[in-house]
Amino acid sequence: WSQLLVSVVLVGLTVFSFALLLRSLVQQRKLTQIKNDFISNITHELKTPIATVSVAIEALRNFGALHDEEKTKEYLAISSNELKRLSFLVDKVLKLSMFEKHQVELKEETIDLAVLVKEVVNSMKLQFEKYRAQVNVQMHGYRFEIEADRLHITSVLFNLLDNALKYSRENPSIHLELKDETERILLSITDNGIGIPPEYHKKIFDKFFRVPAGDTHNVKGYGLGLSYVSYVIQRHYGSIEVESQPGIGSRFIIKLPAAP
Ligand code: ADP
Repeated sequence: WSQLLVSVVLVGLTVFSFALLLRSLVQQRKLTQIKNDFISNITHELKTPIATVSVAIEALRNFGALHDEEKTKEYLAISSNELKRLSFLVDKVLKLSMFEKHQVELKEETIDLAVLVKEVVNSMKLQFEKYRAQVNVQMHGYRFEIEADRLHITSVLFNLLDNALKYSRENPSIHLELKDETERILLSITDNGIGIPPEYHKKIFDKFFRVPAGDTHNVKGYGLGLSYVSYVIQRHYGSIEVESQPGIGSRFIIKLPAAP
């Protein structure tokens, strides 16, 4: 019951956060059309998990499912997954709206990118397995230290690797490369996925932009990940660019100043 109560409170908080978020989005100019689409999409997306969690709770409360241990476990697992999905989305959008207002303070510490990259790759093991993806990491040089905010740089790596998986084809293969170029560190993530047509190489870093999918994939998203990534890199005085060919794959190249 206490887990159920936590679920209900979380749903409430999530809806409340979204209400605040939507209000702040509405206050922005320019992006009216995209914003309207975003709001209608997100409202639609929000309805499904909320309905699912409500039905699960109802079933447990009123239809005796609580006495069935298997059913209880199943419904709790469903609720918990749906809530994770919601909070992931809220987190992503809130981060972005905070960046817009320049409220984010970056913490600075010396980070060994070689260690961080390996940690992130390791923590995504299950996801790689799910997609049956081959992943390899290659290092050129000895020193890969940067002055950076660990949380946000970790999040950048997650976003890029997540995209490499989401926009993959058969037998995904992901190659990470780190290069020590004395003054700066180069990090690239190469995939053999669906690729991006040249006319969109700049646009994919814009907020809310998604390459028209046609029949290439049915991945859902909001076009926020790469704008967040590019903002974080820019705030660290770095650069990010993409090389990509449809049907061949994509390579995201990040350059960051090396720690003195
Ligand atoms: P989202 O994935 O939610 O749409 P992103 O900002 O992360 O948002 O990406 C923007 C768009 O760039 C995606 O919709 C997709 O079309 C394209 N894209 C990003 N990463 C890749 C990739 N590794 N391979 C192919 N296309 C990609």
